[in-house]
Amino acid sequence: MCGIVAYVGEQDALPIIIKGLKRLEYRGYDSAGVALLNDNGLSVYKKKGKVSELENSLLDNPHLNSKIGIGHTRWATHGEPNDANAHPHYSSTENFAMIHNGIIENYEVLKTDLLNKGYVFHSETDSEVFINFIEDIHKNNDCTLEEAVRLALHKVVGAYAIVIMSKEEPDTLIAARKGSPLVIGVGENEYFLASDATPIIEYTNQVVYLDDYEIAVIRNNKLQIKTIENVETNPYINQLEMELEAIEKGGYEHFMLKEINEQPRSIADCMRGRLDAQNGRLIVGGLRDYINKFQNADRIIITACGTSWHAGLVAEYLFEEFARIPVEVEYASEFRYRNPVINEGDFVIAISQSGETADTLAAIELAKSKGATIFGVCNVVGSSIARATHAGSYTHAGPEIGVASTKAFTAQISVLTMMALMLGYQRGTLSETKYIQLLSELEAIPSKVEKALLLNEQIEKISEQYKDARNFLYLGRGYNFPVALEGALKLKEISYIHAEGYPAAEMKHGPIALIDEEMPVVFIATKDSSYEKVVSNIQEVKARKGKIIAVVTEGDTSVKAMADHVIEIPHAHEALVPLISVVPLQLLSYHIAVMRGCNVDQPRNLAKSVTVE
Ligand code: GLU
Repeated sequence: MCGIVAYVGEQDALPIIIKGLKRLEYRGYDSAGVALLNDNGLSVYKKKGKVSELENSLLDNPHLNSKIGIGHTRWATHGEPNDANAHPHYSSTENFAMIHNGIIENYEVLKTDLLNKGYVFHSETDSEVFINFIEDIHKNNDCTLEEAVRLALHKVVGAYAIVIMSKEEPDTLIAARKGSPLVIGVGENEYFLASDATPIIEYTNQVVYLDDYEIAVIRNNKLQIKTIENVETNPYINQLEMELEAIEKGGYEHFMLKEINEQPRSIADCMRGRLDAQNGRLIVGGLRDYINKFQNADRIIITACGTSWHAGLVAEYLFEEFARIPVEVEYASEFRYRNPVINEGDFVIAISQSGETADTLAAIELAKSKGATIFGVCNVVGSSIARATHAGSYTHAGPEIGVASTKAFTAQISVLTMMALMLGYQRGTLSETKYIQLLSELEAIPSKVEKALLLNEQIEKISEQYKDARNFLYLGRGYNFPVALEGALKLKEISYIHAEGYPAAEMKHGPIALIDEEMPVVFIATKDSSYEKVVSNIQEVKARKGKIIAVVTEGDTSVKAMADHVIEIPHAHEALVPLISVVPLQLLSYHIAVMRGCNVDQPRNLAKSVTVE
């Protein structure tokens, strides 16, 4: 997935690049590297491990002054995380250096060809093949680097965001993208390039989002954008609205904890300007132009990956209950490869925090080609999914830096809930009285989440008892079933404890065999239509001596009598409960992970913005 940063201007490039890479570390942290250009030539410095290790290795180096540079933090796809596979990669003459985010699928064919021509490779990466392929074209066609890049892009298959610098053109950066994100910050006599806007925000709020198949050339302090067909386009300058403080830890030990605690505000931000319960008004602006298609859809297909897929499952319950339209929730990675039946009457909702999820993007393209209407629910403004869909709504949760998603999940559910209520009301499947009641219940959610956050200390104590468990089960029914899946995923992601989420009633069809006195079972047993049934499931676990941690509605006494621990959350309509019941589960996984000494914000093997398939 990788994070890339580049700078050209009047300032010292290295500190800007290092700071930017640290902001992008959520995208990968296997290795880091920079390339700089000065009187000593074009130099590459790279190192396995975090950006701070690269930074330390450069402390006593006196040759780092440069007004131009590129940097990379890697999430390895081709070749293990080591110094040699770290980016930037030189071309074989060392005239060019390149950073790359993505995967070149036909790299083996290109590599064989280059090997036959005598090229020598120092890494196992597809990226090193890419820059040598460009160099080979440059040499054989006697053309400019820009022309060589353009010709190469016609031949490579796969995904990329690249930035190249050259010894031959010391004031020039050449960048291109297809499938991986690239943002260009336009400052005064300086330019910044990065995978997202976070490395740029403190220098300028003017940005250009590069599109697929576009090449950006920054030369002599001028930005020029051309398509790979060599047609010049007019760069459209967007104003960034992000605040610097939103991407800093603000006194919290980890971004994840900060983001869990931000949820009352992020949910409120998500509803701001859309929900006005007092006047019975709810408008999801992004839907306006497509409301007829939405209302008359034969079917809603929701496609997503990971946590966003769990938000999609909650939405399935919401749309079917309130709007009475059949819903299918699909893993984007499966959907796109199984020749699905998609018709023009289908309304497809694609959910992704980053808006860059490669599988979800590919699913969107597939559904689009079949004539369906595509609606995006993304957090990152200007992201690829936001631009590839017909319409959409941003979740407005603010930047989410912790790799394990928390506030983006509740913001996604908030948007989807508003969509379901709006749709149900307009279709007449949700009565006015119930609609009005749900609007005010929804408006009360941020303060209820605030209350749930007060459980932090109690949950920390519970975590202490279970931090050494080897397995966990999470069980819930109805709206709380996706919450059980999400709770289990959070624990796996950051504490490396094996955890499974199940619909509570499915337990007796298999997982019950796992239960013994060693097994903690987390029940989400709030007072809803399946409460009694869940209570029976709790009895069944109790009878087999499992340890029971139960998330219940305030004032519950029945579960209290059976469970080893009860976590009481405020009451809400069952359709809105996931927004509250997930909070204690986020905190449970957070504390367990911290107690196990895990790197909560950057769990092993993971990265946040999954731009590879
Ligand atoms: N394929 C490149 C590598 O393994 C870049 C990886 C990525 O962007 O995720 O180094």
